Amino acid sequence: MVGLVPIRIVVAGGNYAGLSAVKALYSTLLAPSADTSTDIASLASLAGLERPVEITLVDRRDGFVHFIGMTRGLTEPEYGAKLWTPYAEVAWLQHPSIKIHQASVTKITNTHVHTQTTADKTKVILPFDFLVICLGEGRFAPIGTAATSKSQFVEQINKTFGEIQAARSVAVVGGGAVGIEMAADVKCDFPEKQVTLVHSRPLLLPGPFKDEFRGIVSDILRKDIGVKLSLANRVIAQSPRSPDMNEGSDDPELVSSTATGAKLTLSNGSHLSADYVIRCLGTRRKLAGLVDLADKSIFDKTGIRVKDTMQVDASGLDNIYACGDICSRDTVKLAGVAMYGGYIAGRNIARCILYGSETQLEMGQKYSSKIMLLMGKDHFAMQIADEIWDTERTRQFATPDMGLDSCVRALALNCYPEYEPLEPIIPTEI
Ligand SMILES: Cc1cc2nc3c(=O)[nH]c(=O)nc-3n(C[C@H](O)[C@H](O)[C@H](O)COP(=O)(O)OP(=O)(O)OC[C@H]3O[C@@H](n4cnc5c(N)ncnc54)[C@H](O)[C@@H]3O)c2cc1C
Repeated sequence: MVGLVPIRIVVAGGNYAGLSAVKALYSTLLAPSADTSTDIASLASLAGLERPVEITLVDRRDGFVHFIGMTRGLTEPEYGAKLWTPYAEVAWLQHPSIKIHQASVTKITNTHVHTQTTADKTKVILPFDFLVICLGEGRFAPIGTAATSKSQFVEQINKTFGEIQAARSVAVVGGGAVGIEMAADVKCDFPEKQVTLVHSRPLLLPGPFKDEFRGIVSDILRKDIGVKLSLANRVIAQSPRSPDMNEGSDDPELVSSTATGAKLTLSNGSHLSADYVIRCLGTRRKLAGLVDLADKSIFDKTGIRVKDTMQVDASGLDNIYACGDICSRDTVKLAGVAMYGGYIAGRNIARCILYGSETQLEMGQKYSSKIMLLMGKDHFAMQIADEIWDTERTRQFATPDMGLDSCVRALALNCYPEYEPLEPIIPTEI
């Protein structure tokens, strides 16, 4: 194998989707098999291939961040510190065929990923044979995080916690899932504070949910937790302005969405003064600038269109996959869906490597819309497709650590993934 050019797989973005893709590649191509010490060299030659693989995981951070727990992390910094797992602590990521490239992706073309290293801004261009795009969608800080290391992350969490702690009144702007959880976590952890959730529409929670569900969530927030709701009220001015209200950066995680001592002017003509304001106004990613693939038809307004195989939906780009929040989808974007997409993409790339690019690929299943809201530690609501679950029924799925341990286990961040042999799929005749 010495001297052979490896098969180069680049995974851009190393969180739920990206780590899941790398884990699937590890399980199928690199993990020792149960009965022999089979590694990629022997697997490749078994499959008639001669080349080893080289997997490069690119992320501007040096670790995994469990975003699901982020709102609680900001109100309980000891828990918050656990949300970051450095890649260096994940044993199987240290495999010699896996390289971690800590860098920002600046451009993706049909053949290369352009990067700039986090440490010294060196520009590095990575050619690839297979690419998995898992860059997610950006959220403004402090929900999205600009931190590139665990120590910076902990510092930022502590800073936000200190600001929340010092405020007597907190306004959360934006009543989507994140704003709802943020307002609930502040009020549950600091019951003495006045917490107001301001939302532009008459009902909370935009998305494919029932009005009845929205009503249940509003009642929990208002009656059970004590969050004041200001609905059908758009913030039309804020003084001082949060940085993200300026033209700002292309990268929302690098800009703060908070302000201290702010006065909000609302569309009904009223004013709201708050010692601390957190704006939770959704996601933003300038996809078309960053992902510069030849076929622009892969983009729609919710992201990159992909096939059920997780390959981008364009002819001639069969070696490029996209998974997670960056994909276009008509259902809610979720960590579970991102991990599943990464799993399918990783296995399909392994299939192509082992059995050739003409081999039959796996098809991912479609998920129905689902949302579970964790409002403090005692209040939950879930809607799966058309079914609404109340607090008591949802409680059994709502772990006190907000899914941290189950995601750590699902991504094998604390153990070695097992070898998963891949048999070729025999096409069935219809
Ligand atoms: C507060 C909150 C609560 C949530 N609750 C839930 C929940 O209860 N259940 C659920 O299933 N989902 C929940 N979600 C949604 C879930 O977090 C996302 O669906 C999930 O993060 C998507 O995973 P991903 O891997 O696609 O993207 P991300 O997790 O966003 O990862 C993208 C990765 O790409 C990297 N990256 C991005 N741009 C660049 C670049 N230019 N260069 C280098 N690296 C880059 C980032 O550093 C990051 O590591 C929640 C999200 C938030 C914010």
